[in-house]
Amino acid sequence: MGISNSMTLLGFVIELQVSSDEKRKPLFYNEHISTFIDRRTEKMGRKIIGYGSFFCWNCGERIKKGEKTCPDCGVKYSGKNKYGNDSALGAGGIGWSDQNRHPCFKNYFKKYCCVVLVWVIGLSILIPTILLLIDDIELDSEGILVIKVIVAMFWVIGIVFLLSLRGRNKPDWEGVVEDKKVIQKTRTRKDKDGKKYKDNYTDYVVFIRKQDGSLYELIRENSSTMYEYFRVGDYVRYHGYRYLNCLEKYDKSLDTTIFCVPCGSICDARDNFCESCGSVLLKGAPVPSES
Ligand SMILES: [Zn+2]
Ligand SMILES: [Zn+2]
Repeated sequence: MGISNSMTLLGFVIELQVSSDEKRKPLFYNEHISTFIDRRTEKMGRKIIGYGSFFCWNCGERIKKGEKTCPDCGVKYSGKNKYGNDSALGAGGIGWSDQNRHPCFKNYFKKYCCVVLVWVIGLSILIPTILLLIDDIELDSEGILVIKVIVAMFWVIGIVFLLSLRGRNKPDWEGVVEDKKVIQKTRTRKDKDGKKYKDNYTDYVVFIRKQDGSLYELIRENSSTMYEYFRVGDYVRYHGYRYLNCLEKYDKSLDTTIFCVPCGSICDARDNFCESCGSVLLKGAPVPSES
């Protein structure tokens, strides 16, 4: 009886993992699990990596508690005159960033992996403990087998997840934003009871013509952030470096914000480093002021 209940739980988790229907996503990708892990790891990640303004926006040093100005470079951390008279417009600069191999990208990834591992270890202790506490299994040979299977399963899922995160280095390429489209779509999905229902969603697509003539589609489901960030005519470079895996705009001088590649925070264009994770921001050469 214990084993059958545990098997149902096991089957449920495996089903969650395998019933993926999205081709673009890596193997074992599943929205529920992925969002769950993302949210949890984000919460823990924030504790380990730092949340809010934990790094100096100018020099990237870790902010010390209670300090209002950076002891390393002297800039203000917050307040009205944080940036002095500098305008955000133009601060992103023009040209490709020369920071695309900065060690912070690999370091961020390592920290992220640690958080995932902590979760895998935690879950492989927690789940068997709960099963033992609710008397679903006992510490007999059957129970120990169940625990072994569950622990092994968490490790397999964890390792596959980590491998899918890392990816491989891909070739860089450059291109021009040719078109943008908002596409309303409908798909059929199944609810918990197996009943089919129609699910409406929106695809925000940015079409980029690559130098070799082929078309690259940047698709974001129900999220217009990237769609709004890129303008038709923008010259872009794709960074295939496995710890980056992102698109960089050549001309960043027209934006007042800039994305942190590893953590995805939206930063002020005047920042040099992400205040949340301390990663360097990919900026171009500053534009000389017009005055
Ligand atoms: Zn500083
Ligand atoms: Zn960041």
